[in-house]
Amino acid sequence: MNTVVYKPSKENIKICADLIRGGSTVAFPTETVYGLGANALDPTAVRKIYEAKGRPSDNPLIVHLADIKQLNEVAAEIPPLAYELMSAFTPGPLTLVFKKAPCIPDCVTGGLDTVAVRFPSHTVAAMLLRECGVPVCAPSANLSTRPSPTTAEHVLKDMNGRIPAILDGGQCDVGLESTIVDVSGGKPRLLRKGGIPAEALFPFTGPLETVESSEKALCPGMKYKHYSPEAEVYFSAFYDGMYETIAAEYDKLTASGKKVVIICLDINAPRYGTRNVYGAGRNFEDYAHNVFAYLRRADDEKYDAVIAEGVDSAGIGSALINRLIKSSGGKII
Ligand code: AMP
Ligand code: MG
Repeated sequence: MNTVVYKPSKENIKICADLIRGGSTVAFPTETVYGLGANALDPTAVRKIYEAKGRPSDNPLIVHLADIKQLNEVAAEIPPLAYELMSAFTPGPLTLVFKKAPCIPDCVTGGLDTVAVRFPSHTVAAMLLRECGVPVCAPSANLSTRPSPTTAEHVLKDMNGRIPAILDGGQCDVGLESTIVDVSGGKPRLLRKGGIPAEALFPFTGPLETVESSEKALCPGMKYKHYSPEAEVYFSAFYDGMYETIAAEYDKLTASGKKVVIICLDINAPRYGTRNVYGAGRNFEDYAHNVFAYLRRADDEKYDAVIAEGVDSAGIGSALINRLIKSSGGKII
């Protein structure tokens, strides 16, 4: 299969919407990461997503909508809290889990009786979804386990020859996936940290119970290896001695013959002297925005190991820590 990369003109968005309505998959930009979309009401099309990604099919997909008016088509029950959260945070990087409507096939929800729904704020995503007219389910447009794609080039690298089309909308703004809140039961639960900081939700939800479980009924995707480049990833906690710990680990790995790079805030780069660094930007938002791109770049530049600086857990920091721990496979220094 030939993979065509389209600039997001009106005509090209129409071509991509026609592909989705016709049962094909299309990768498209959102404010979080690139998604690989298919018509959520067409099980044959949905299965093409799992095939292209090499993703286990008990890992459910998020349904993307253009307009809150479509929500009744996919969700069986919409509690008042959902309306409050949607009026505060959508469109944007917040996914809500509802009891599902009967039209949503099992292959979208991994056999669960709930459905995850999101309204992306990215202009290209919103235009594509509006043009499609159908709910579009989409996971991140990377090969399963690889770092999520935040540019069209990342998608092409993983998906070339596996999907018909990629809409190129430049680099994603947030760079980490959406925050997922389950509102399908009595008490809301935080299923995944992400683009909206949990503390921003608390005025609406009260303190949220965090659930990142391997149990199928909770948040199934969490049990799989995630966000991993070929290089080994090490992650340091954020504390006073972090810089010395990272430098010592770098020197140890280098002495054992490994090519190593440190991901750090720009301002910290001088602390590492002549060691290799990727400057992740001025603050933790920049770091989140750039982190997946750097994990991929480390592979392109044939590094054997990446050491990622820890961050403060406020704001986006908490989601960033979660992704870094996952990509490190628990190698915390
Ligand atoms: P991704 O598209 O790769 O960001 O993954 C989507 C993630 O959303 C899945 O891995 C699940 O963790 C979560 N998810 C999707 N649908 C549901 C659902 N019905 N209930 C709970 N979690 C869900
Ligand atoms: Mg993913």
